[in-house]
Formats: sequence, C-alpha cells, structure tokens
Amino acid sequence: MNAHAPVTAADCGPDIRVERGQRAVFCGLTGIVWLHRKIQDAFFLVVGSRTCAHLIQSAAGVMIFAEPRFATAIIDERDLAGLADMNEELDRVVTRLIERRPDIKLLFLVGSCPSEVIKLDLSRAALRLSQRLSPAVRVLNYSGSGIETTFTEGEDACLDALVPGLPQVEAASNELLVVGALADVVEDQFGRLFSELGIQARFLPARRSGEMPAVARGTPYLLAQPFLTATARALDERGARRIPAPFPLGAEGTTLWLKAAAEAFGVDPARFEAVTAPGRARADRALERYRERLSGKRVFFFPDSQLEVPLARFLAREVGADLVEVGTPYLHRAHLAAELELLPAGTAIVEGQSLDDGLDRCREARPDLTVCGLGLANPLEAEGLSTKWSIELLFTPIQGYDQAGDLAELFARPLHRRAKLEV
Ligand code: SF4
Repeated sequence: MNAHAPVTAADCGPDIRVERGQRAVFCGLTGIVWLHRKIQDAFFLVVGSRTCAHLIQSAAGVMIFAEPRFATAIIDERDLAGLADMNEELDRVVTRLIERRPDIKLLFLVGSCPSEVIKLDLSRAALRLSQRLSPAVRVLNYSGSGIETTFTEGEDACLDALVPGLPQVEAASNELLVVGALADVVEDQFGRLFSELGIQARFLPARRSGEMPAVARGTPYLLAQPFLTATARALDERGARRIPAPFPLGAEGTTLWLKAAAEAFGVDPARFEAVTAPGRARADRALERYRERLSGKRVFFFPDSQLEVPLARFLAREVGADLVEVGTPYLHRAHLAAELELLPAGTAIVEGQSLDDGLDRCREARPDLTVCGLGLANPLEAEGLSTKWSIELLFTPIQGYDQAGDLAELFARPLHRRAKLEV
C-alpha cells in the first residue's frame, strides 16, 4: 500500500452486519414509474388493488394526465370473494386495452400483493394472452408485490422476464451488453463514449420492444445498476459473461466502469485516456464546489434502493463525506465486490433492516444527512434531521460524468435547505 493512499475497506475489510426485522420500503410496482418511460411501446398493467393504483399514480405524479403507459386492473371484493372468474375479467380488460391502444407492442402483467394472495397465475395468463395477441403484442409477466419485492427489485423482475425472449445468436459478437434502465440522456452519453472506445454497446432494456439486444454464449455484459441479481443470473444461464466493475456514479465510478469494459475489449490504454479525459475533467470541475459543502458531513443510509453502497463510495471518496452507517436491503457480494473494496476501512454496512434498531442508531448519531424512504423522511425532518428521499436517486439521471455534479447536488440541497431554515 502506498504510504499516502487513503485506507480503504480493501485493506481492512468493511464491517458488514446482517439485520432482520420490520422494514419500510416501497414495493416493486414503483419501478413502473421509470420503466414505462424507458420502453416506449410497452404497457404495464398492474393486476392489483386500489392501493396499488394510488401508489403508482402518486409516484408517477403528473403522468396520469397524459395517456400513460401503465394502468391497474382492479381486483375488487367480488374477485376476492371468488365470485368472478379473474382470468375472464383479465382477458376482457386486456382485449379492450389493446383495441384502444394499438401502439402497445409489449404488455407486462404485473403481479401485486392481492394477485398473489388469491393465487392468480399471471404466467399462465401471459402465455394465453400472448398466443392470442401474437405477433402484434407480446405479453410477459412479473411480480411487483410488496410481499416479494422492494422497489428496485421491480426493475430486476421486469428485466429478468425479458431475458428469455432476447434473440439468440450463434457466437458472441464484439458487442457489449449494458444492463439496467438508464435515462435516455445518460444512455446516449455512454453510447457515444463506448463508440469512441471502439466498443459497440447495446442496452437492456432497449427503447423499443422489437430492438432488444441479442445474447450468445460469451456475450460480455456490464451492469449499470446494482440491484439486478435475477437478471444477471438469467443472463449467466444463457452463457453471457459479467464484467466485474464498480457502478458508474461519480467521476471515479464512471471511469472504473468504462475501464472494466475497455480492458475486457482490449482497448489501448492511451485511447481510453484520451476518450475519458474530457468527461473526467468536466465531472471534477462540477464536483469541486460540492467538496466544500459536503466534506466532513456525516451521512446515514437507511436500507432502501440497493444503490446505497455505490452512493456511499461516491460520497466518501469524491466529496469527502463521512459514512455513519450504510444500510442496504440486500448486499450482493459479487456484484458489489469492486465497490466494497473502495469504501473507507471499517465502513459500517448493515444488510437487511430492523426498522426500530436503525431509527435508534440514527437518532443517536444525529447525522447531518439521512438518506431514506419517503415514509421515514417526514418524521425524521420533524425531529430536526435533514433527509434525502432515496427514490429521487432513481427518478433523476445520476450516472456518468455529466451527471456527477447533479448527483452531488441531490445530497447538498437538503443541507442547504436546513441551513436556510435555521437562519
Ligand atoms: Fe401495496 Fe402490495 Fe399493491 Fe405494493 S403491491 S401497492 S405493497 S398492495
């Protein structure tokens, strides 16, 4: 180890604890809010209750006034009492929807807590409807139920459902598969950078259902999001090969993520340097003013989005924040290995959640900033703590060089607001 290098978790290892208990996290339906914007000819039909409908409509905000690409087929009391044939009703709803919206090419039936409780088999429904509506519309299903999923797992379940239908090609071409929904602006930036590196990148999910990338044995893929456990497993089963890397958050994360791909594709280091230098310089300049505002600030993460570890690494290494505790609902040790190595030595990581214990620790530590779900934010604000809603980190483009400053701003803003309130 270099005498001047900061001590990281790789030197002494992170302090990882597993906790079990009550949790406070949105369900996987929330993913529809960003996924329906991403796949432009897809439609997400939640088979659920009025609660599910309210959740998505309020999470998606003003989108309900446009012609949205999501809806809820409400399971009502008659259905729950077993008086109605749910499959017939579902077929009727889908038929009406497809007649009214011929632009839909891919329909997701999204399971919820109620559909699970009444054991409605959505995979059979998807198969039946797919046979009837093919080739104009493909019908897939996944679960967004709060019994099975936390909110980012909804995206994982959706992409996992797409993997079996990805076109199969004989041999791995020289294409890179980038896996995980990214805002279009971020995807375009990465597409340009990869192309300057001489790498042809394809993205999963694609913007249109007919343009999903092909897979072959040996296809190299790079995860763009840290919560894609099931999707990665499905790709591995099809013979694709994950390129281990940290995640593209901040200047350092983006460089290391791109570098992992560049090395896998044998890109000349000088070319890599030349292609990435302008972006790194822009990100460094953008981060400069946040170092002063965030340096030394004590940050506490409640387990929520599964983005916590990469975000903590970004905050600690790029803007000098102190990590009080990094909670995460699940810790995929292989996918996060490169991230864990970069964390400051002894960083307290808590996998899982015991809500009351977490709240006790947070209240005792009185961090400068608490990153948490919406349900916890208001009570903590009322107790005088500054909070950042973790869900905002999913709705905002934060990956890549040109978003590094925006990412830091998301953390700096609540501190600024509280400082103003205190004045
Ligand atoms: Fe609530 Fe379950 Fe519906 Fe999610 S799926 S909104 S947790 S009832």
